[in-house]
Amino acid sequence: MSTAGPFDVLVIGSGASGLAAAVSAERAGARVALAAKGSIQSCNSAKAQGGIQAAFGDDDSPEQHAADVWSSSHETADRRLVEILTVEAPSAIHWLEELGVEFTRENGGYRLARCGGATRKRLLQVGDRTGLAITTALREAFEAGGGTAFTKSPLSSLEQTPNGWRATCGEHVIDAATVVLAAGGRCFREAKERGELSTNHPGATGEVTQIALDLGAEARDLDALQYHPNGGAWPANMQGYSIPETTRAYGAVLLNAEGEEFTDSLGPRDAVSQAIFDEVANGNGVETPDGRPAVYLDTTRIAEDDANVSLPYMLRRYRAGGVDPLREKILTYPVLHYQNGGLVIDTNAETTLEGVYACGEIAGGTHGRNRMMGNSLLECCVFGRRAGRAAAEKARA
Ligand SMILES: Cc1cc2nc3c(=O)[nH]c(=O)nc-3n(C[C@H](O)[C@H](O)[C@H](O)COP(=O)(O)OP(=O)(O)OC[C@H]3O[C@@H](n4cnc5c(N)ncnc54)[C@H](O)[C@@H]3O)c2cc1C
Repeated sequence: MSTAGPFDVLVIGSGASGLAAAVSAERAGARVALAAKGSIQSCNSAKAQGGIQAAFGDDDSPEQHAADVWSSSHETADRRLVEILTVEAPSAIHWLEELGVEFTRENGGYRLARCGGATRKRLLQVGDRTGLAITTALREAFEAGGGTAFTKSPLSSLEQTPNGWRATCGEHVIDAATVVLAAGGRCFREAKERGELSTNHPGATGEVTQIALDLGAEARDLDALQYHPNGGAWPANMQGYSIPETTRAYGAVLLNAEGEEFTDSLGPRDAVSQAIFDEVANGNGVETPDGRPAVYLDTTRIAEDDANVSLPYMLRRYRAGGVDPLREKILTYPVLHYQNGGLVIDTNAETTLEGVYACGEIAGGTHGRNRMMGNSLLECCVFGRRAGRAAAEKARA
């Protein structure tokens, strides 16, 4: 074991939320350490494809964005957090642009898509590798600063000290005045335990949430796990792949075995997933060649130009597997995707443990019991920045 620190702020996790917190804490003058379970790049954030929401449309506003979050959450979200998420969304986008993210543009503005549960076109994209673009820019900003990274250093214990917190991360014992927990959700482990497919990275196992709970932190909605309506069901190498929701934003629809539309393909995620489960349970689904349940996603309705601009990665992956989504319908079924709930936070992302902050998927409240697509990357940036700044400030107090 080696000892390190004391630091002002220790960030646990190197996804979009952890990196946003680390960069923001450093820019607020803090000495920052960041510990990750694997390499800095390995996280769910880098896998995100579809996009990130922010109200930029002429017919849109943060209030409308907030109203959509509220209704998609079935009125279970924390309205104070939703207001911050939606009001700060445009400035979070501009911050990402300053860090080098180049969002896809058209006609002099952003190319905006409408995602499930949204009443307006609001989803910004970087092709269909939005998460990769965001995490690359954040990682470069972190690496250009003076922060210390501890990779392959999973947090295994956290204890309070007279001056803050002591964390054991792999072979390192790290002291810091404040801690930001940004270790993501638990859907990889949960899916494994259920014998189901998941879109998640193998690092999404949830032990950091448990460490916080054991210390007495409050949590909410932890039982509310989200199925992505469109997991890849066939070909075999696409099983567990999350087919971007932008396929449906650009015209793809869900069809049953008879070729009938059985649900609003742009409804909230939980409603669309449930409709697919019900359709299959009622005997109206189809089977994959290896006997798995599925329905059709008719991707042939997407215009080729839209697909080339907004779905190039998805097209490449399917075509490499021998299926051309613009020529034939693809097979899909919901897969375990996202932990809606998490640690209770206040508007500065502080948990109920003083000096311990949480941001990104590990935190609860912003989405209530049902997240809208594109609001998770946004939450990572908005609350990652807030957590980093507040943790730096508290460390100096
Ligand atoms: C395939 C896919 C597509 C998605 N598409 C979108 C999309 O288009 N738009 C959108 O808004 N959201 C999307 N999401 C959801 C979104 O990407 C994630 O919810 C979000 O990026 C989570 O970010 P995070 O920083 O909280 O966690 P993550 O990005 O999961 O990062 C967690 C970090 O914590 C580390 N960690 C875990 N345990 C420990 C430990 N014990 N000690 C130290 N470190 C630890 C991990 O190694 C990792 O570095 C998608 C998710 C997936 C999986």
